Amino acid sequence: MPIDATKPYDDSNIFAKILREEIPCKKVYEDEFALAFHDINPQAPHHVLVIPKGRYVSWDDFSASAPDAEIAGFVRAVGHVAREAGLVGAGYRLLANIGMNAHQEVPHLHVHIFAGQQLGPMLAPR
Ligand code: 5GP
Repeated sequence: MPIDATKPYDDSNIFAKILREEIPCKKVYEDEFALAFHDINPQAPHHVLVIPKGRYVSWDDFSASAPDAEIAGFVRAVGHVAREAGLVGAGYRLLANIGMNAHQEVPHLHVHIFAGQQLGPMLAPR
């Protein structure tokens, strides 16, 4: 079910549980600002999610409300994760779904990193 990105943050969401280590993940990177782990249902040979450690529903409230240090730390973490995985040469795609029309399912900001094959058109055909 897509979520309403205008709703307040819900601490019971699955990524909050991963951050609290109540649920396991296949971690690839962690620092003060971000955690990166493999998507449970990969849509490409390489499919990693990067999430901020702060309580943000989506890119919308993150970009509006997060302190500059958290934004810088998170953006740098996304680039670092891709670089460390050796994805820059062949290329990769970032995706952040926000709300209903984008089919955001987990109400904690996450950036998808897709790589490992030709990724095709940016959007599914209409
Ligand atoms: P969204 O549609 O919200 O942009 O993407 C949510 C993503 O989270 C999906 O790709 C889904 O496979 C992934 N996901 C959902 N639950 C879990 C989980 O418990 N662990 C991991 N690693 N990924 C999850």
